[in-house]
Amino acid sequence: MQRTTPDGIVIACDFTGIDWDEQIPMIEGHRGSVLSLQALAMAVEGAGEAAENFECVMCKRAYEAGEKSWRHPDPPENANPHAVICWDCIQQADRGFARDPDTPWERQIEPSTRWK
Ligand SMILES: [Zn+2]
Repeated sequence: MQRTTPDGIVIACDFTGIDWDEQIPMIEGHRGSVLSLQALAMAVEGAGEAAENFECVMCKRAYEAGEKSWRHPDPPENANPHAVICWDCIQQADRGFARDPDTPWERQIEPSTRWK
């Protein structure tokens, strides 16, 4: 997501609210949504069945309650309080970060047919 500050526009992780400093690994989703590596680590660990219908902030797809997904259990002040990520996007990010030679990340999720 983007936040406007007196110094200009800041890009920040939707899930943790952490500002991008051009160093920390982040992946961009649709319409400016952003997932940081730290948020991905939490998502891989904490993903579970959604309690209610949701729209994934990364891919904008609509899902029904019960789908595997992740939201920050206690969204930090600067985070997007409505940010939810679907399991499909979590897998995609897991693969994406692992493929980036500059990112210290090993795949955490067993490759699937869709995300080999
Ligand atoms: Zn998604």
